[in-house]
Amino acid sequence: MAGEHDVRPGEVAVALPEATDAGLIFIGRIHTPWTTRREAPHQGSPDGPLCRIEVFDPWLPALAGLDRHERIEVFYWLHRSRRDLVTQCRASDGIARGTFSLRTPVRPNPIGTSIVQLVGIEGCVVLVRGLDCLDGTPLLDLKPDRKPAPPAPLPSGAG
Ligand code: SAM
Repeated sequence: MAGEHDVRPGEVAVALPEATDAGLIFIGRIHTPWTTRREAPHQGSPDGPLCRIEVFDPWLPALAGLDRHERIEVFYWLHRSRRDLVTQCRASDGIARGTFSLRTPVRPNPIGTSIVQLVGIEGCVVLVRGLDCLDGTPLLDLKPDRKPAPPAPLPSGAG
């Protein structure tokens, strides 16, 4: 079985710079049911499993007011990704595409984002549905979602 870090035919890897340009602060850790990349959904869904976003000290006061929002955007560091591929091929079709044309976790700065349903906040834990990341994924940021909610699906037979 191919490993998750293998380079497929048609994919191109480049040499990464030795130094980074900025530092990030991991402000928490995300707890989800998934431990391998193959198990995790490609994108989260509002009816997905309940996930726990643990926020570390000293960032707890930064949660004040977040509970006024039904949907929030979560930013996370896809820490188990390689970072050097500039073209990538889906296993399904083998066609090489540029990394920036894809939402693949394999990218020079492996930042993932998901707009999730906020279920509640219990102390340092933010409960949400709609994530797609592995258990233990580092948390980068939380922001309220400002886009209007997507329309509710029409009842069957309507429209
Ligand atoms: N929703 C985010 C986005 O669009 O920016 C991430 C989408 S990415 C396609 C989701 C996939 O990344 C998952 O199916 C899993 O294979 C992989 N993944 C999840 N957590 C990861 C992690 N911590 N490190 C590396 N890969 C991860």
